[in-house]
Amino acid sequence: MTQISTEQLVKEWQALLESTPTDISQNTQRLAEQHAPQLAASFYKHMLEDLTAAQFLSHDQVQERLSGSMQRWVITLFSLSADSDLQPIIAQQKHIGDVHARINIPVHLVLRGARVLKETSAQLLKSSPLQRESLSFISALIDMAMEVMSQAYSASNDKNARAEESYRLFSIAQNSAHEKDRQRAALLDWENQTMFDMAMGLKFSQLNTLFASEFGLWFRHKGAHAFEGAGEVELISSAIEKIDTVILPMLELEQKPPEQHQQLLRSLHEQMRSIDYHLENLFSKVNELESGRDVLTHLLNRKFLPVVMSKEINYAREHKRNFCILAIDVDHFKLINDSHGHEAGDITLQQLASLLSNSCRSGDYVFRMGGEEFLMLLVDITAEKAAKVAEKLRALVAEEDFRLPRGITLNITISIGLAQYSGHPDPQALLNKADDALYQAKREGRNKIIVAH
Ligand code: GH3
Ligand code: MG
Ligand code: MG
Repeated sequence: MTQISTEQLVKEWQALLESTPTDISQNTQRLAEQHAPQLAASFYKHMLEDLTAAQFLSHDQVQERLSGSMQRWVITLFSLSADSDLQPIIAQQKHIGDVHARINIPVHLVLRGARVLKETSAQLLKSSPLQRESLSFISALIDMAMEVMSQAYSASNDKNARAEESYRLFSIAQNSAHEKDRQRAALLDWENQTMFDMAMGLKFSQLNTLFASEFGLWFRHKGAHAFEGAGEVELISSAIEKIDTVILPMLELEQKPPEQHQQLLRSLHEQMRSIDYHLENLFSKVNELESGRDVLTHLLNRKFLPVVMSKEINYAREHKRNFCILAIDVDHFKLINDSHGHEAGDITLQQLASLLSNSCRSGDYVFRMGGEEFLMLLVDITAEKAAKVAEKLRALVAEEDFRLPRGITLNITISIGLAQYSGHPDPQALLNKADDALYQAKREGRNKIIVAH
């Protein structure tokens, strides 16, 4: 299935506008111009009654800004006529859909908002002679806008889901070599033990099933979750079931010809080999995720930033905790490349990266944003404490001797912009604050920390 193109949307929207008589579109425009504040107010009143919606809207900044942009949105939408330029309108709805996806607003809330707007318009149009026609025009306009918004929303949401997926895999990748060896050993142990038990004449009811074995436990609770969606998970599950419910019980049956006994043992062994093979494949997928780390510095790649930020914003909201981010940029880094060469620059970045990751707690995150820019997310911390951490980092970097080949050492400094999570649901708002603070630090002479307000 392909998405409906913007051109197609423009065409359909245009047709709606062209088929609407001028007195209707003027009436609608008048409604918006006269009553935009009431429409926005009614929207908030109804939305704040919903507990989930309230979570997204309660932040002062959101209320303050959103009320203004809500009114502008209503006026723009309700004022459309046959000669309006629809391209920017469509772009605006797409942007709103992207923002909704970024802050994880559930679709039902957006639809609820649309319903509230329609109902309030109906109230406001009660005494208008064009009530019926105007309302059906308004309803069509809102539906069009919603359609474009949700198209953008689901595209963004898919992207987020993919990033979450790879982050989930990535989080197990850190210990994957060890885990793989351990689980393959557990698998082999079970097979040996079962063969031995059977040779000793134990009954089926006395055998430990593969399902209940060390491997089975790991697979059901961790492996299947970590590798969720991979085809191998299904294959391993059905092999386990076949072994436990078909092969083992049949092995116990007495009075069967020896060929059949051998045949069963062989198929047990085959099933075990196939589990081992699928397991190998699952773990090799994880290895490909080494790309989740930045190649030069082995820090987290910036593609995980939205996932981690959303995760931490949800956590902070639910547990009423704080967190801070530090936007870090090396001062005059270009000079290092210019005077010592690009390779020296690379070595410096590597050394700086390990300094940064060794200077934070294991719950914190360090990303390489690109070039000589880094981002640290410090969890469970107030702005005052984070400012101390940042100051320590700044001093540490300034004092460090960066070692280049041929015994050359180098000193560098960094500038830091610090921003504290303030309850704003959009990660981008927090990133912008930290960036602005960083640029202020640069303007004010570098080798400096600025705390955003
Ligand atoms: P400022 O203090 O304003 O940040 O100055 P700056 O020179 O650090 O900033 P600018 O953004 O002008 O230059 C950044 C330089 O970093 C330019 C680019 O050549 C270099 N750079 C970006 N990525 C890499 C990399 O991976 N390795 C090396 N060696 N250099 C890089
Ligand atoms: Mg830079
Ligand atoms: Mg720089």
